[in-house]
Amino acid sequence: MRGLIIGRYQPFHKGHLEVVKCVLKEVDDLIIGIGSAQISHTLENPFTAGERITMISEALKEEGLKCHYIIPIPDIWNNSLWVKHVIALTPSFNVVYTGNPLARRLFMEEGVEVREVPMFDRRKYSGTEIRRRMIMGEDWESLVPPAVARVIKQIKGVERLRDITRSDELTHLRRGDISP
Ligand code: ATP
Ligand code: MG
Repeated sequence: MRGLIIGRYQPFHKGHLEVVKCVLKEVDDLIIGIGSAQISHTLENPFTAGERITMISEALKEEGLKCHYIIPIPDIWNNSLWVKHVIALTPSFNVVYTGNPLARRLFMEEGVEVREVPMFDRRKYSGTEIRRRMIMGEDWESLVPPAVARVIKQIKGVERLRDITRSDELTHLRRGDISP
C-alpha cells in the first residue's frame, strides 16, 4: 500500500517528521509531495523545491526512514482540478494523510481515501513559527531535525529570510522615501 502526504515544508520540521513516522507504520511505500514547488525567496516560502527535497531526504536518512518519492507539486490555482494535477505528477497511491481541511475535502470529492494524522505540538512545530523565530533571532534549531538545521545553515537560509524581510519593508516605501 502506498500513502501520500503533502505540505510546503518551509521548512520540514519535527511535526512533519512525526507524521512520516506515523504513516510509515501503516503503509509500505510513502510519497512526499512538495506543494507550492515553484515558489521560493518569499517570507512564506523562502526555500526552493530543490532545497526542500535536500532537507527532507537528509532528515529521513538521518532517522533511517525510507521514502521512495519526493515530488515537487507546483500550484495550479484551481481547487477543482488540483487532485487530478497531483495524481498526474505522482506514482499511484491508495491513501492520503492530511490535517488540512481543504485538501481533505478535495481528495474526498475525487473518491480518494483520506486519513487524519494527529497534530504534534502544533504551537511549536509550525513552519510559520519557525520562520518567525529565524527572523527574530530566536531558537529555531530545536524545532527541526538536525539534518534540516545543517542544510539551512549550509544555504544561509536565515540570512536569506532576513534579507527578504528587509526588501519587503522597502517595497512599502514610496519612491520619494529613498534618497539617492
Ligand atoms: P506553515 O506554517 O508554513 O503553513 P506548516 O507547519 O503548517 O507550515 P506545511 O508545510 O503547511 O506545514 O505542511 C502542512 C501539512 O503538515 C499538513 O497536512 C499539516 O496538517 C501537517 N503538519 C504541520 N505541522 C504539523 C504538526 N505539528 N503535527 C502534525 N502535522 C503537521
Ligand atoms: Mg500550513
